[in-house]
Amino acid sequence: MSNVHNLLQHLDKVKRTGPCTWSARCPAHDDKGPSLVITEKDDGREIVLVHCFAGCDVNDVLGAVGLTFADLYPPRVVDHRVGPDRRTFPAADVLRAIAFEALVVSAAAVALLAGEPFSEIDRERLILAVSRIQAAMTAAGVTHHG
Ligand SMILES: [Zn+2]
Repeated sequence: MSNVHNLLQHLDKVKRTGPCTWSARCPAHDDKGPSLVITEKDDGREIVLVHCFAGCDVNDVLGAVGLTFADLYPPRVVDHRVGPDRRTFPAADVLRAIAFEALVVSAAAVALLAGEPFSEIDRERLILAVSRIQAAMTAAGVTHHG
C-alpha cells in the first residue's frame, strides 16, 4: 500500500480532488467541512503533504489517526559507505600511544648495547613495539622516507 493510501484509510469524508490530491475531514479538530488537503508527490520517492486549512499542525493531524511522520516517510536507506579514513591524530595522542612502546624499544636498545642476549619473548615484544610505533606514525600522517 502506498503511503498516501495508508493515510487516507484513516480519514473520514475522503474525496479525490485531483490526480494526486484528496480532501478529507481533519481528525485533529472538530472539522465541519473537509479542511484537510492531502497531496501526493512523486519525485523519485513518494512524498505525502498534509495541510489543514484550519491551521492544525501536521503532527496533530497524524497523531489523531495514530500515525507518525515515519508512516508517511519511511526511513531512507542510510548509506553506510564511508570514504577513506584520512583523519590524523594529534601528536600528543600519538606520543601517549607509543610512549610505552618506545620504552620497550629503549630497553631493548640498552640490552643490545650492553651485549645482553635477546630472549625470544623480548624479540617478539620488540617486533610488536616497532610495528605499533610504525602504525601510530602512519595514523598520525608521519612518513619517514630516508
Ligand atoms: Zn485541522
